[in-house]
Amino acid sequence: MALTGVEIFKLLPKTNCKKCGFPTCLAFAMKLAQRQASLDLCPDVSEEARQKLGEASAPPVRPITFGTGDKAVKMGEETVLFRHDKRFVNPCAFALEIKDTGDDINSRIEEVMNSEIERVGQKLRVDAIALMNDSNDAGKFETAAKIIAQKAPDVPVIICSGNPLAAEAAVKLFADKKPIIYGANLENAETMANVAKTYKTTLGVTANNIDELSSLTEKIKSFGVQDMVIDSGARKAKEILQDNTFIRRAAVKKNFKPLGYPVITFAQREDSLMEALLGTIGVAKYSSIIVLSSIEKWKNLALFTLRQNLYTDPQVPMQVEQKIYKIGEPSPTSPLLITTNFSLTYFIVSGEVENSKVPSYLAVMDSEGLSVLTAWAAGKFTAAKIAQFIKDSGVENTVSHRELIIPGYVAILSGSIEDKLEGWKVTVGPREANGIPAFLRSKS
Ligand code: SF4
Repeated sequence: MALTGVEIFKLLPKTNCKKCGFPTCLAFAMKLAQRQASLDLCPDVSEEARQKLGEASAPPVRPITFGTGDKAVKMGEETVLFRHDKRFVNPCAFALEIKDTGDDINSRIEEVMNSEIERVGQKLRVDAIALMNDSNDAGKFETAAKIIAQKAPDVPVIICSGNPLAAEAAVKLFADKKPIIYGANLENAETMANVAKTYKTTLGVTANNIDELSSLTEKIKSFGVQDMVIDSGARKAKEILQDNTFIRRAAVKKNFKPLGYPVITFAQREDSLMEALLGTIGVAKYSSIIVLSSIEKWKNLALFTLRQNLYTDPQVPMQVEQKIYKIGEPSPTSPLLITTNFSLTYFIVSGEVENSKVPSYLAVMDSEGLSVLTAWAAGKFTAAKIAQFIKDSGVENTVSHRELIIPGYVAILSGSIEDKLEGWKVTVGPREANGIPAFLRSKS
């Protein structure tokens, strides 16, 4: 049962020393009760109190990591239902299913390995492989697992089998790679729990409904397994939305421990568009792992973009450093463009300049992470500020010409920039970034 703020306060040192960053112990206790602060911030809390408070300050969704190294996937730790309350913590992972009956195991591994793209400065990829024991044969499963272990040694793996013998045959191959064994159910719970305990892995638990799931996780916990990912059995869009919302709400609002685990969603469909739609429900509504049957580039891009947008901090605009960026190998006569430091703006504009194959300088001005029009409307991308930035940047020593290309959306600023930036000519560029390549080529 979660402790109230006052109950937590009684266990704190009550010296109001402020070392935790809060003005009083009571204020800190209230934040702890809301799970918006970590107990570690108070250096003076006693060991006895720490134990009692451990549960109260633990995140309602258990933190779990699977895989190791750079590609390890962190899950759980979520504390809110809505992103506007506080940012979501750990982005959901996408996993491609690979069937042990398939004759395309090698090519599907390659697809996962080659799925990485870069978007607004972040590397995005399909995170894991879900190996499915469709054959229900331990030998076949082990053979498929061997291929994955050999060809994709650093990709996190979910071993999906309800057959404890097959699960054990496969998990041995990934013993030091923190895989997930998925497939514990009412019938095999104890045996699967023993396999998970032996190999110190997270256990995926599946049930026919939420009631069954919550009693199953308690049962498995009593066998000594703490780390679980859970599946209510939902497969249709409506059920996934309903069950995932219920699970998150129970964990976050009621601190209901039997459902306080990351959720795994199986979204596989023959119709790839339908699968992408189910994937979007999982991304938006609380899945920590989404298993897909195919990873076409269009689908990846849609799901990656949605995930990236939902898991950024809404209170912190994504921005890049203010400076003069070189694109290609520009010379003193190369064009000089200017834009704002909103990440998306920067990456789109710099990408289009690159596409033009015209080496250029791109002056990126601090607009507190706002896009061009918003920054202009907010008075952060004005003629005076642009002129000052160009003077301060030292670009006058870098380029031999005096021509500045401004975004078409702020054409209205051209005259006043020229007034403030003596000796410079201001040229109005395209309104949309996709017009930049033709524009730059026409000038060179
Ligand atoms: Fe109270 Fe600990 Fe914060 Fe000091 S650091 S104000 S003792 S909660």
